[in-house]
Amino acid sequence: MGKEILVIGGGQAAASFAARIRQHDADSKITILSEEPHLPYQRPPLSKKYATGEMQRDQLLLRPENWYSDNGIKFREDVMVSRIDPEAKTATTSSGEEIRWDKLMLTTGSSPRSLPDAVGGSLEGVYLLRSIQDADQFATELIKGNRVAIIGGGYIGLEAAAVCAARGLEVTLIEAAPRILQRVACPETSRWFKTLHEQKGVKIHEDTGLSRIDENQGKATSVVLAGGSEIEVDFVLVGIGIVPNAELASGAGLDVEGGILVNEYCQTSHPDIYAAGDCAAFQYRGELSRLESVQNAIDQAECAADNIAGQTRIYEPYPWFWSDQYDVKLQIAGLNRGYDTVVVRPGEREGAMSHFYFNGNQMLAVDCMNDPRTYMVSKKMLEAGKNITPQQAADLELQLKSLM
Ligand code: NAP
Repeated sequence: MGKEILVIGGGQAAASFAARIRQHDADSKITILSEEPHLPYQRPPLSKKYATGEMQRDQLLLRPENWYSDNGIKFREDVMVSRIDPEAKTATTSSGEEIRWDKLMLTTGSSPRSLPDAVGGSLEGVYLLRSIQDADQFATELIKGNRVAIIGGGYIGLEAAAVCAARGLEVTLIEAAPRILQRVACPETSRWFKTLHEQKGVKIHEDTGLSRIDENQGKATSVVLAGGSEIEVDFVLVGIGIVPNAELASGAGLDVEGGILVNEYCQTSHPDIYAAGDCAAFQYRGELSRLESVQNAIDQAECAADNIAGQTRIYEPYPWFWSDQYDVKLQIAGLNRGYDTVVVRPGEREGAMSHFYFNGNQMLAVDCMNDPRTYMVSKKMLEAGKNITPQQAADLELQLKSLM
């Protein structure tokens, strides 16, 4: 009889993991337990095409419903796991059901940080944007003329700002750090996006704390900035980062450090428990890292599946990301951590722009704004372990693809 593989968490990593296990063997019993009342779905379109109605709920699904039954994968929604016992090899649900496993996969994902209640984080009209339910609420507010304060200038905040501004809302974005995208991008990229949003009418306050959200009968009516100024709003959207869901792992005594610790085989400190995606922390280029991206959720989950199936595969991430804002497609290849130089290179087509990150002579990453050609070449070069030097990136006479 095949082994019992239990997957806790029902997002992108879970779906990729289950599909990969099934490719390896037809016999394992695979069960996915998800807290959410939905089959695994794509999150990136939630604030965009889904909220604007251009994409329907069933189009969000990563796999259609019959795929699970056709592949003998039991998917159980609305199931909350409250405890795992690595010695007894069981998981206990909040209703007291005990489920046995031979191999356990933790794809528990992450949760959005919310503003504290004391500043108005739980008032009516204050939304997060992570789940289908969140996006459904957000969608009801996309009414021309509505005033929104967006707290946080990361990708969630900026993508939502673009949708709101394009729908004719009055948008104010408040970023606590000295610049938007500070955690993930160079000052050149932050400035590029700031200019883009301001041209679309978004008011951006950087280096600005939020003092509180004022209310009337429990509903948010204005945000008060640290300097005392007040902005009237119809609703508030909070995009201030995420925290990994690692409580089950820490409760079970697994090693947790800024996420569920996994080794190069995606294995936790227990040999029969693996983890992947937003919840997993691992050593990458000499630093403990968590990669919050679709690419990582898929590739790391597939690597874990390969190892559970008996291969010996080391997880080597090739990070890439994308973000859609207005008619701009930002594509990012590589990880810019540790950069000391940025080279700005206009692309061949009008409006195309790329920002290359280097450590010394070594290319680390590139942000490409409407510049898919530069993105494709740079991504392939990075994946092949080849380099583009700062001099080459700065040489506009040089066709980058000639370096491949
Ligand atoms: P994020 O990238 O961590 O950005 C949140 C921003 O909010 C940070 O700049 C943060 O500054 C700032 N902030 C924190 N507390 C604040 C406060 N009280 N007031 C004002 N600003 C505050 O997270 P996110 O934008 O919420 O996105 C969540 C996750 O989804 C991330 O992993 C993101 O990469 C992912 N995502 C990705 C995409 C994409 O790839 N296209 C799209 C959407 C979301 P500090 O860093 O200084 O705290």
